[in-house]
Amino acid sequence: MNTQTMEPGFRDSVDQMFNRAVGLMDLSPGLEEKIRVCNATYTVRFGVRLRGKIQTFTGYRSVHSEHMEPVKGGIRYSMGVDQQEVEALAALMTYKCALVEAPFGGSKGGLCIDPREWDEHELELITRRFAYELIKRDLINPSQNVPAPDMGTGEREMAWIADQYKRMHTTDINGNACVTGKPLNAGGIAGRVEATGRGVQYALRAFFRDEEGVKKSGMSGDLDGKRIIVQGLGNVGYHAAKFLSEEDGSVITGVIERDGALFNPDGIDVEKVREWIAKHGGIAGYADRHYLENGAKILEEECDILIPAALEGVINLQNADRIKAALIIEAANGPVTAGADEILRDKNVVIIPDMYANAGGVTVSYFEWVKNLSHIRFGRMGRRQEESRHQLLITELERLSKDKDLGWSLSPDFKDKYLRGAGELELVRSGLDDTMRIAYQSMADVWHGRDDVTDLRTAAYLVAIGKVAASYRAKGL
Ligand code: NAD
Repeated sequence: MNTQTMEPGFRDSVDQMFNRAVGLMDLSPGLEEKIRVCNATYTVRFGVRLRGKIQTFTGYRSVHSEHMEPVKGGIRYSMGVDQQEVEALAALMTYKCALVEAPFGGSKGGLCIDPREWDEHELELITRRFAYELIKRDLINPSQNVPAPDMGTGEREMAWIADQYKRMHTTDINGNACVTGKPLNAGGIAGRVEATGRGVQYALRAFFRDEEGVKKSGMSGDLDGKRIIVQGLGNVGYHAAKFLSEEDGSVITGVIERDGALFNPDGIDVEKVREWIAKHGGIAGYADRHYLENGAKILEEECDILIPAALEGVINLQNADRIKAALIIEAANGPVTAGADEILRDKNVVIIPDMYANAGGVTVSYFEWVKNLSHIRFGRMGRRQEESRHQLLITELERLSKDKDLGWSLSPDFKDKYLRGAGELELVRSGLDDTMRIAYQSMADVWHGRDDVTDLRTAAYLVAIGKVAASYRAKGL
């Protein structure tokens, strides 16, 4: 409990949302409790000799549910990491994987560290040592527990972890599958870096295809021209904002970062802001007349869609009343507290919940894990065969046109697109899009189909818990 705001902590917040959903289900009390509780959390304190002395770090790996294995969930580097945060995130992973039918249980890890305080070499030593502690306890293992990037970590850290695992398991032919989110040249998959942001875009497209849902939000039309405010221009927020502005015609009117926010109703060039942040470490100084030091205030600005893509608890009892967005899509995990969720529901603000909204990451991680286990790039076998079959058809159509003097001709652009066989990136996007559409539909069916369900989050929990329960029942538990 946060005593200043009287709000429950992150883990209790997730439990409250879970309890609201199971209240509408007919689960036996024993099974309900089994699904809700976190199976285990391992805490490790380890020392690394850096800057002339032994520095001690605290890390966690939490396993929420092993109804399917391996369990899956990112590793976060942040000073805010603690046991209850990691357990809340692990629980969300269980429900997220169930909702998008990624065949994993839920897990999460974290290291209490500010990665900006350490240089690359130091971070490598710290990461390898943390990984060593987890690997030797099978808390990183291709068949048991498979981490991925999260806040403060990325491809680089995942490559170090994979390498550390392989050093400790030299004969494990599936070693690369011990972690996902690796660089392409170290066992990764095309499209993983941007997968979570891409998933946010696909989730919004799925929402705008749902006429009834759009009506409930009080909006109309599609993503074109929609004003969007995004908090956090990191991996998830940057890619989501980039794709939505470049491909769907949405206008990014606000960007909120650690050191303040930019607000411009005419639109912000996401690419330029990202470059500025990379160079200067923050957004201050980018465009003074659009800059506001109190960034969080911009969450309350007029907009159509709010994308919190930084950290949890940013929309809470303190500001929920003043949120003006018609739609919030939770790109971050847990950005809306349980208390704020209630206030926003009363205001008819539609919330696309985290467990669905940011599931693009774990979905493409699933593809990467499958790729690692099958030891072959997706598309390698079929691409040229697909192209030659398409070529057959084009040749035949052109022959017919010529022989029968029909005067048809296929446009070069059509031919070019039709003739191109699907490579790994196209297949990953197709699989992600399919996953996001199907999962959206499963939530929407409950949202629109049951009188006692008035929001997408409850619908998402109902679908996810139903699947986890079915899995436990099938095991005879
Ligand atoms: P990241 O570290 O790449 O980016 C986080 C961004 O938020 C950074 O730009 C940081 O400066 C900014 N930020 C931090 N504190 C802030 C504050 N108080 N106000 C405004 N901005 C702030 O992290 P990420 O991987 O993009 O993850 C962001 C969120 O998305 C997290 O909640 C994470 O759990 C979730 N998520 C990430 C992935 C993934 O694949 N990376 C997958 C699913 C969910």
